[in-house]
Order: sequence, then C-alpha cells, then structure tokens
Amino acid sequence: MQQLTNCPVCDSTSIRFQFMAGEARHPYDPLKWSVYGCEDCGLVFANPRPTWQELSDYHKPDFQCYNAIDEDEEAFYEEALKSGEFRHIPVPVGKRLLDVGCGGGSFLRIFKRLGVAVTKGVEPSEAAAAAGRANGTDIFTGTLEDYLEQVGSEEKFDVIMCSHVLGSTPRPVETLDAMRQLLAPDGYICVYVPNAECDSAQEMGWRWHSFDFPYNLIQYKSKTLALAGERAGLTVKRHYTYSLPASVTYSICLHNRYKWFIPHKVTRWFLSEESVKRIAQELDEQGKGESVMMEFCHPQG
Ligand SMILES: [Zn+2]
Repeated sequence: MQQLTNCPVCDSTSIRFQFMAGEARHPYDPLKWSVYGCEDCGLVFANPRPTWQELSDYHKPDFQCYNAIDEDEEAFYEEALKSGEFRHIPVPVGKRLLDVGCGGGSFLRIFKRLGVAVTKGVEPSEAAAAAGRANGTDIFTGTLEDYLEQVGSEEKFDVIMCSHVLGSTPRPVETLDAMRQLLAPDGYICVYVPNAECDSAQEMGWRWHSFDFPYNLIQYKSKTLALAGERAGLTVKRHYTYSLPASVTYSICLHNRYKWFIPHKVTRWFLSEESVKRIAQELDEQGKGESVMMEFCHPQG
C-alpha cells in the first residue's frame, strides 16, 4: 500500500481523510478502504492506495471484464451496424483504434468486425490479455506507460478509448499523457468513468455499485476528469452523461433495499423496461446520468 501525500489529479497537498468505505459487492463486510478528498479540486480517492499486486485477489482470470468474447457480441454487432455507433463512438471505419484497459478485448473484436482497420488493446492482466490474443485480438500485456516505454509512440491512433479504467490507474494524469502521445493529430480520446455526482452516488456513497472499491480507487466528477485531461495537455472536446438501463435498474434496487429494505427481486418485478429507459433518458437529459463520457483532443484539434 502506498500512502499518498498529494492529490492524484491536481497534485495539491491539501488532502484530507473523509470516510472509511466498504465494498459494494460485499456490503456487509468490515469497512476496509480509507477514502480521502482533495480540498482543491474535489477528487475522492482511496488512500493509502493498494498496488496492482495487492489487488491480485480481485483481478482473477474469471473477472467479468476479462471476457475475450462478449456473450451479447452478436446483438451489439447488429445494433452497431444499424446505428453506426458502438460504445458511443461513431465506428471509425478504415481507421486505427486503441482500447486502454481492454480486458479480454471483447470491444475490439466488435470494432474489427465493423471495419476498423487497426484494433489494438493494452491490458495489465496477463490472463485477460492472453485470452484475447488466443481469440485473435492484438493485445499488449502491461500498462499504457509500459506500452509507451517498450513499443514507443511512432504508431498513432485515430480513436483511443478508455472505458471504466481511469478509476483504477494509479497516476491518471500520466496515463492520459501517454494517450496524448499516441493520439493522431486529428484524433480523439473517449474516457468513460462512473459519475460521482449522480444522485445514486450522492445518496449511497460507497454502497453504490459503480463506486465499486477497490476496482475503482478514484471517483471522478466531470470537473475533475476534465482537469486530469487538461493537466495531461489535452482539451475537452465534448462531454455528457449516459446511463445504461441495467445500471439504473441496479441503482433503484439498491436504493429500495437500503432505504426501505425491499429485496432486489421485488423491485425488479415492479420495474418495466420502458420505465427504466425513461428514467435513464431523463437523467441524461439533465446531465445527471450514472456515467460520464468525456472526449479529449489535442489543443489545436
Ligand atoms: Zn486535487
């Protein structure tokens, strides 16, 4: 464990202990994680910070994000063919895409099928990277900083995606800076993180499923994510929130259980697919959705 004396985003030394957090996946276990807040930028993060090795019990080969093939691949592929978008990214047909923290590379497989010319991934889990490679996906084992050091930045990418990964990288500004070095002059970076400002996060704190200590060690708001990108020499191109209906359903289940002791299955029974979609849409229209999607580009872009 490493005790931090500075904020991982703005480098301020005005950081203070805020609360002890448990794990949303095991809410009745003892509270294990000490959480700090930055008084200058408002970032919330685990401190001390566990190392990758210390988290190895959490990142086992069967971790769901490490799937080499998504069980819904066909459905995602068909939907993307119709809409021209996948993971909120207009499919960059004939271009080059890098997925940072790609797990087993399931998103890359779909982008490749959709006609993206170069699909590469970077993934520190050896098991996930090997599983992806066994399925024909080009994956580098290591962090993005390792990739830069070993492979270099000669090959640029038109789109770099980083989906729900920046909460678990120890030095997010350096990781974003590495993305900047790999970004083509007209390219853009798409970063997705859970939204620490959404109502569910505010109400339930660490019990909210997307805070997910210790898979996420840093909790971002739009403002702190933008600041991390700017400190890495990037400019925010656009940002918005998005809410997956499945995620909203889970949040409503958690809310009902913690507030009214209503079991999940009862809540699910009363929630229609239509009503959840409507709630998700309303949250996003107000910019209060469960995840933040932020696009960055080079300053002149
Ligand atoms: Zn800060």
